[in-house]
Amino acid sequence: MGCAAEVIALDDIRASQQRQALRQQLHERFDRWLDEVEAQLPEPEPTLGQVSETILALRQQLTAGVAQTMVEHTHQEEWRRKCLRCATCERLLRARPAVPRTAQTLIGDIAMHRPYFYCRHCQLGRYPLDEVLGLHAGRIQLDVQQAAADLAIELPYDTASSLFGRLSGITVSSERLHTLTNQAAEGLTVLDVAPSRAEIDQRVAQVAAGRFRRPVLVLGIDGAYVPSRPESARGRRPGYARYRARRARWRHEWHEAKGFRFYLLDGDRIVHLLSWHQVQSEDELGKALKQVKDAGLLPEETVRLCVVGDGAEWIWKHVQALFPSACQVLDYYHCSEYLHKMAYAQYGHTLQALEWVESTLTRLYMGKVGAVLGGLRRMQPTSEEAAKAIDNCWMHLHEHRFRTHYSTLRRGGYPLGSGGIESSNKFICHVRLKRSGAWWYEESSNRMLALRCAKYNGTFDQVFTRYQHQKAEV
Ligand SMILES: [Zn+2]
Repeated sequence: MGCAAEVIALDDIRASQQRQALRQQLHERFDRWLDEVEAQLPEPEPTLGQVSETILALRQQLTAGVAQTMVEHTHQEEWRRKCLRCATCERLLRARPAVPRTAQTLIGDIAMHRPYFYCRHCQLGRYPLDEVLGLHAGRIQLDVQQAAADLAIELPYDTASSLFGRLSGITVSSERLHTLTNQAAEGLTVLDVAPSRAEIDQRVAQVAAGRFRRPVLVLGIDGAYVPSRPESARGRRPGYARYRARRARWRHEWHEAKGFRFYLLDGDRIVHLLSWHQVQSEDELGKALKQVKDAGLLPEETVRLCVVGDGAEWIWKHVQALFPSACQVLDYYHCSEYLHKMAYAQYGHTLQALEWVESTLTRLYMGKVGAVLGGLRRMQPTSEEAAKAIDNCWMHLHEHRFRTHYSTLRRGGYPLGSGGIESSNKFICHVRLKRSGAWWYEESSNRMLALRCAKYNGTFDQVFTRYQHQKAEV
């Protein structure tokens, strides 16, 4: 009796002694750091700016020092480990001389001497301390990589690199930044960057609150041209070293980044759910859409699904196959553009042309697409070119006739235009990829696009958690 209680009391005392020892060491570190700060202050009576500048320059010595002291106090058994069983052959291995390593984190460089074990039979080496500390392979730790990538997906690599250095005190070259960003985005699919069904449900519920009708969930599909560099340009670096003045031997190209965006309409506001843009074929886009559907991410029973697109055939093919019961809308502005083209061919750039467009749009708006089609049939072409334009216009409207009932759509609370996907084209593709002098290999542009989608879908952290697990499995 009393024995267990005494053991607990002894453990308590030991823990409290260890805590005090750690505190003591931390205070000593802080004192040494203060000495350094005092020595570096330019004047005995410094300005606020001078104090700030001095502390900023020395901050990582303090934060890294504190972290290092704390780390040294955890996992005591691993720091002092003398032997380890080989995970493969179960032989007992003796500790070899400790091996130094530096881990670069957002709070500074943490130096460690870790026990090393090597099995000669299996030719396998292990650092058990690295495993319990969850160290990332390589010097740069995941927190630095994520912060750096976060910046690099907004700014050109050169700018991101210098800004990152200035703000964090950590130097990462632009080439390294490029590699780190690309590594994290390797193999990302639409499902990796998509928010969970629970998150989507939550956003739907917020928009639905206090409303009689189910919210409109819009799917916009569109393509955006992005500056691309052919694979044949690999290995050649125009502007490099002494060839700086030489022009690129490869010709740049513009490739279409095909994308889709799901968003909710909340009055005049758009509530973003999911964007996915890639330089890809229409088949790949169709597959990605199907993945989203098959993963059960769309709450089809609590929303009214609506698809907006321009006249491109590939768009409607996938919509018809995947969402046959969705309300379909031909983008009003695209339609208006089409009518203008025809009117100019028929009437020239005249007032008559504009009047015809206006009355035709009004009729479409009223749902009288049949009357418009009949009118086109009766129209007397003024030239061969006009005849062709009238025919094209008739075919176009005939094909999309049930997607043009704009007045009914508006009453139902559906969108008339594809502004939602066009703005996604801009804030995901254009703002980062269209930079002066930047031409992207397809793979690099797709990785950049995937990370930017993750950022705007609110899944950037999720992408890095996935990456961390992937690295841990290797
Ligand atoms: Zn072994």
